[in-house]
Amino acid sequence: MSEVLALKYRPKNFDSLIGQESITQILSLALANKRLSHAYLFSGLRGSGKTSTARIFSKALVCDNGPTNTPCEICENCQMANENRHIDIIEMDAASSRKIDDIRDVIEQTKYKPNVARFKIFIIDEVHMLTREAFNALLKTLEEPPEFVKFILATTDPLKLPATILSRTQHFRFKQIPHDDIVHHLGYILNEEKITYEPDALAMIARAGHGSLRDSLTLLDQAIIFSKSNITSLNVADMLGLLDTKKLDEIFEAIFNEDKNRIIEFIKELESYECEVVLDELIAHVKSKFYTNDAQFSMLISERFFRILSEAKQLLFINADNGFVLGLCLFKMLEAMNIKRVDALISSLEKEKFRSLETPANSTQSINQHTEAASPTKQTQKQPHVPTTKPTSNLETRNMQDETSKADNRYEMLIKELGNRSYDLAKCFQNHVSFISFSDNSLNLKSTASGKDREILRHGFGLIKQFTKEIYGINTKISVEQSIQTQEVKKKSVVEKIKEEIKNTPKQEQIKEMKNSMQNTGLNDKQQELQNVLQSDIIKQAQDLFKPKKIKILPKE
Ligand SMILES: [Zn+2]
Repeated sequence: MSEVLALKYRPKNFDSLIGQESITQILSLALANKRLSHAYLFSGLRGSGKTSTARIFSKALVCDNGPTNTPCEICENCQMANENRHIDIIEMDAASSRKIDDIRDVIEQTKYKPNVARFKIFIIDEVHMLTREAFNALLKTLEEPPEFVKFILATTDPLKLPATILSRTQHFRFKQIPHDDIVHHLGYILNEEKITYEPDALAMIARAGHGSLRDSLTLLDQAIIFSKSNITSLNVADMLGLLDTKKLDEIFEAIFNEDKNRIIEFIKELESYECEVVLDELIAHVKSKFYTNDAQFSMLISERFFRILSEAKQLLFINADNGFVLGLCLFKMLEAMNIKRVDALISSLEKEKFRSLETPANSTQSINQHTEAASPTKQTQKQPHVPTTKPTSNLETRNMQDETSKADNRYEMLIKELGNRSYDLAKCFQNHVSFISFSDNSLNLKSTASGKDREILRHGFGLIKQFTKEIYGINTKISVEQSIQTQEVKKKSVVEKIKEEIKNTPKQEQIKEMKNSMQNTGLNDKQQELQNVLQSDIIKQAQDLFKPKKIKILPKE
């Protein structure tokens, strides 16, 4: 095999172009209907078929039967085009000829009629590399070239082109060639070349080619030489410094079997590979297993694995020790197996709990309350900005309503999320906390909770905060306003209660007695009694509310 595959299998017509069906279809139709533009721009990743398409399109223009979407392939023009020696198809690489003088040469050439064909075609590759002066010089010609001139500009970076160039060309965006198309094409070539191969090996080559058919073909050339005409995944893995599929299977098997010793062996073994490549291979493996519905790679476990692997990749960016990152990563994946079990347990418990505790239909009622609570504050906020006379415009009212309903929607979501985690917390939150407003990343709430309810909310605050951040945005802060009214009422009632209790409790009587007959009573008993009083619910509530520095217990008058 003397010729490289990329050249030997360079597509000769639109049908043999890989992975750009919509573009080839549009160009074919344009040729068939003779609706031609004078300048085309092909943009896309390297190796996505831009240059090949430009050459096929040029041939279609110059063919004796042309312009046609099916060049005859036998006329002199077709043959010269196929051999890349057509005098009227001028290819130029703007990466090396980027100066204004180079473009002046091109402009000069456009003034002369084509030598043999009906068109003179200029293919300018990597056009974004041209200097600003060169672009400006090209502009005029690009806008109004002579009848017989066609421009095909190609670039990997269309964003670097001036808008004036973009607006004067018909733009075709070449997408990355799908992985499967590349694998299929590699297989086709190997069959033609009568070379045996393992399908997995081709997938590895295509992955290493990163969507570029040209790069994939270059790697295939190497693989043919490297593996002496029998391409196996082991050979290719060896050649590319990758892990072969069997090894990957073994690693995941060790993780699923929670075989720590085996994993440590793998970590040692993998130290000779490039860490990032190993992580990429592990990710690709998880992805392929997930798509093939492998029972072991459930949604939950795939998501966890993927997150762990992505985190590991991030660690590499901060120059962490490669071997350590890989070890950490594999052990985290092992740990994820535990989480899987715990998660399954939690979700089954939650289902059990919610079956018996379906939330009553009063949620809509409380949401209405939130709306009521929200609107007045919105209005008072807006009022200073609005002139005193007429009521606010329709538009503004609508905006306010939109905002309110949007806020309420999220608030409802917050309650729902809390309910998914803890029914008691959600119920308490719904009963005692109401929505005031959401502005400047601050969720303003009002709480009427006290005593036990307040305790529940305080315990669940971490969870409330977490869901608030998830629903309202990561920077959201919660500001809770304690209802003053209820605080006052509560204070009063607690004071009343304390008075009553102090009056009525036999404990107090006993303390009084104890005080009177101090000498006779054991100190321990007295302390115990005092302790009992201090620990009573009512005193705790009072402490909670007043935050006293000192508590004095007086005998009954
Ligand atoms: Zn022809």
